[in-house]
Amino acid sequence: MQTNESLEHAMAALAQDPYVGANPELHEFWQAAARHELLVKTCTQCSRAHWYPRMFCPFCASEDTEWRKASGLGKIYAFSEVVRAEPPYILAYVRLDEGPVLLTNMVDCDPAALHIDQAVKVRFRPAQEGRSFPVFTPN
Ligand SMILES: [Zn+2]
Repeated sequence: MQTNESLEHAMAALAQDPYVGANPELHEFWQAAARHELLVKTCTQCSRAHWYPRMFCPFCASEDTEWRKASGLGKIYAFSEVVRAEPPYILAYVRLDEGPVLLTNMVDCDPAALHIDQAVKVRFRPAQEGRSFPVFTPN
């Protein structure tokens, strides 16, 4: 849970983040992430969710898409521990319950205990530049 003060701090940091400033179409996504909510672009014509967020639906080409709050739940599609990094980290593709597959990181877990199709839930971590980004942990 976030306090009002930490949320204010997160929103102020977001305003300074050059990546967020360079991608205004994703501003709503990063604002939600600062509140620790995961949004996915969803097509109002064919009802399918997609990732990475686009201005039109990649399935039916409709421009009628909207941000919807995702459950934050999914399953591991693939993962790999990057042991040459310092510190090592776990790169993963997670398939959200809503359908899209995200490239992300697994956190707070034992890499040796992870497996394909394992149930996971979203967490948010601060990037150096200020925004919070979604990562996943075993559920
Ligand atoms: Zn569509």
